[in-house]
Amino acid sequence: MPADEFSLIARYFSAFGAGPAVALGVGDDCAILALEPGERLATSVDTVVAGVHFLEDSLPEDVGYRAVAAAASDLAAMGARPLGMTLALTLRDADELWLHSFSQGVGAAAADLALPLVGGDTTRGPLTITVQVFGAVPVDRALLRAGAQPGDGVYVSGTLGDAAGGLAVLEGRYRPDPAAAEYLEQRFFRPTPQLALGVALLGVGPGSPGAEVTRASAAIDVSDGLLADAGHIAAASGVRIQLDAARLPLSPALAAHPDRDQALRWALAGGDDYELCFCLPSAASAPAGCTRVGEVVAGEGVSCPGFGDLTAGYNHFS
Ligand code: ADP
Ligand code: MG
Repeated sequence: MPADEFSLIARYFSAFGAGPAVALGVGDDCAILALEPGERLATSVDTVVAGVHFLEDSLPEDVGYRAVAAAASDLAAMGARPLGMTLALTLRDADELWLHSFSQGVGAAAADLALPLVGGDTTRGPLTITVQVFGAVPVDRALLRAGAQPGDGVYVSGTLGDAAGGLAVLEGRYRPDPAAAEYLEQRFFRPTPQLALGVALLGVGPGSPGAEVTRASAAIDVSDGLLADAGHIAAASGVRIQLDAARLPLSPALAAHPDRDQALRWALAGGDDYELCFCLPSAASAPAGCTRVGEVVAGEGVSCPGFGDLTAGYNHFS
């Protein structure tokens, strides 16, 4: 490591480390995170490579924010309470302007998501960003992809297709009014992982009166597109998922698209929304901000009438 690595870390990556679960943060050989009795550690790691996973000319601040948000979305999908994260950074050079802006994005995401930065690694090479996240789940109660039952409803949070629409705006393929364009670009660069919803979907415990949200039977975050990700629930649960395109929640910015079919295709097959897709028993009502988009039936794969060409690939996972 270069001799000035320590000053870079101290300058840019030591200020975002405070949190209730942080017993020891940046500066020693390991960080130490505290779990409560009855909890287990949930962990996941995501890497983004310049030119492959993000546009080379993106604002460094957005690159940092998005890398953290995308990694944190996996905690949301499990119903995990965020504890902290580590950041492994490979840099071509110690470009301080880039580092300053990048670290602002990481810090903003750490604050927004209550996910303190407790450690990492800094090396030289092609620009690569790896974020590992840590969360706490109650023993034997994490939300899994397996567990959906025929008769369950299928729900999504927020609106779908916005990130794909934002990418289309950035690439000049969709030109809505300026406010809509700005909204869609922000949905691409600054996704909002659904951490609070994930925890709520654990339910508040068997038999508790006043449970506001019914426990989800299965959940996943929508990172590759609803069809692909609902397909993972279907495969893991051994069921079929039937989606209804007419029910897909579209933002006003996407609903304004002159070609509704294109907007629905983004909602079904565009990635990077980082919303949650989950299943609830048939009698449950939709949690706030969520929409029922289909149902679980016996069988396998995913279907969406009217979009057979898109679903063809998602019917077999052998
Ligand atoms: P070691 O050689 O023991 O792995 P390092 O010299 O790589 O330690 O890192 C020193 C300290 O700085 C460690 O606590 C490590 O977690 C932290 N650290 C290194 N790089 C980063 C980074 N990019 N972001 C946050 N913390 C970092
Ligand atoms: Mg190291």
